[in-house]
Amino acid sequence: MPLRTPEQYFQSLRDARRVYYRGRAVPDVLDHPVIGLAARHAAIDYEMAEDPRYRDLAVVDGTSRYFVPPRSTDDLLSRSRLIETATRLGGTLVVLIKEIGTDALFGLSIVAHEMDKRLGTPYAERVRAFHKHCAEGDLALAVAQTDVKGDRGLGPAEQAARGHPDAYLRIVERRPDGIVVRGAKAHTSVSTNANELIVLPTRAMAEADADYAVAFAIPVDTPGVTLIASPHGGGDKNTFEHPIAARHKMMETLTVFEDVFVPNERVFMAGEWQFAGPLALTFVEYHRFTAVSYKLPLVDALVGVALLLAEYNGVERAGHVRDKLSWLIAYAEGLRALTHMAAHRCQRHPTVLGGEIAVPDPLTVNTAKLHFASNYHQAVARVQDIAGGLLVTGPAEEDLGAELGDRVRHYLGGKLGTDTEARLRALNLASDLTASDFGGYQEVLAVHAEGSIEAEKLTILRNYDHRTARDYARQLADTGRGA
Ligand SMILES: Cc1cc2nc3c(=O)[nH]c(=O)nc-3n(C[C@H](O)[C@H](O)[C@H](O)COP(=O)(O)OP(=O)(O)OC[C@H]3O[C@@H](n4cnc5c(N)ncnc54)[C@H](O)[C@@H]3O)c2cc1C
Repeated sequence: MPLRTPEQYFQSLRDARRVYYRGRAVPDVLDHPVIGLAARHAAIDYEMAEDPRYRDLAVVDGTSRYFVPPRSTDDLLSRSRLIETATRLGGTLVVLIKEIGTDALFGLSIVAHEMDKRLGTPYAERVRAFHKHCAEGDLALAVAQTDVKGDRGLGPAEQAARGHPDAYLRIVERRPDGIVVRGAKAHTSVSTNANELIVLPTRAMAEADADYAVAFAIPVDTPGVTLIASPHGGGDKNTFEHPIAARHKMMETLTVFEDVFVPNERVFMAGEWQFAGPLALTFVEYHRFTAVSYKLPLVDALVGVALLLAEYNGVERAGHVRDKLSWLIAYAEGLRALTHMAAHRCQRHPTVLGGEIAVPDPLTVNTAKLHFASNYHQAVARVQDIAGGLLVTGPAEEDLGAELGDRVRHYLGGKLGTDTEARLRALNLASDLTASDFGGYQEVLAVHAEGSIEAEKLTILRNYDHRTARDYARQLADTGRGA
């Protein structure tokens, strides 16, 4: 099967999917002003595969690189570079229609191998067949992992016992030919413009939660699935004031499953509660590697716009500005170094996709993600500090017209010799990145997407070699030197 063209991808979205935006059914997602923009943003993945400049990076032996299981550090580095490049073309916004889905496929391929070995389940063949279907069809994939969760202090069965059985997605019926599921997943990215929806458990489960330990994949237009799109960041935007958000968009949905039938061949976990936690984690370790790869263009943009505005404002030599610029550079380069190191320190695991698969080192990936997420708002503050208040008080594009343009250019020029329009464009870029609804989206994305900050800390604690560190400290305390 050849790779799909952007046009074939667009046409594949014209199916029976049920999408709602601001309470109204969307008959055709491509014609919708906001969701259509998201679909065109997502098409970057298909455009890259056709573009001679990116083809070697995006395609391996006729298949999209995203679907090819990484076998080595080099493969992981190439995957990271592909994600970084696609996001750069996407104006700092991740494309995600293949990134997240293949993170899930790789996680499933490791856990299905382990589950079949330990429990004698039949999942390996199903995961293999689904992977083949996605790779050969060059499909766009969304992943619905995060449940709505209800009371975060209680597990699924505990909440069911208190009268709310739908805080987590669950199996409500088992038939000879498949399962029926009910519930809702929150924050599902790119679902409005994906072909397949992969569903994974959010967390570790206890035996009482067995009906909630469920993983499967279905076409987005499967009967019973309703996508309620978030309007955040939607609406009319011009490219002068919003150079990124007017051109790029990602959609999230509340994804509702009302007695959805899933045929056996698409079921990858149905009650094996012991493996819900491992599956959630295995997916997330790949997904956090995707995350730190796609954050690189964003942090580079913060550095670049801070450098530009420091010059335009004539403060590039001020001591405190140089301090802020060096902090920003170290922040971005620290993230890049940790991302690459996660690939260098990769571990290999058996997979149902043949041979072994390389998994980014969890300790390093989570350190990278924590470094990014816990410092992101500080990076934004530094850019805002250097930029000045025009981030939120600047003139409109219309004010540069015949009547007011001369006055605006005269008064808002910055350092002598600066092209006012170039300065205003740089300010608007900084505003879009840090002070707009897109900027707010990026801030929340930084804290929560791919798991909240506390989840990263837990993984770091779990994966660090405590004993070696303790032994070394003990030796130092006893003898003043280590072995
Ligand atoms: C823009 C965006 C895109 C996303 N895309 C996807 C996607 O495509 N697919 C997907 O599945 N998910 C997606 N997510 C979801 C993301 O993984 C979650 O937002 C994240 O895991 C946090 O979950 P939550 O939003 O329910 O917040 P909560 O879990 O409610 O977290 C809020 C706070 O409560 C704390 N907390 C929660 N539970 C406990 C507890 N038991 N004990 C102590 N503290 C607790 C957290 O640490 C945090 O401080 C996306 C999120 C965003 C913001």
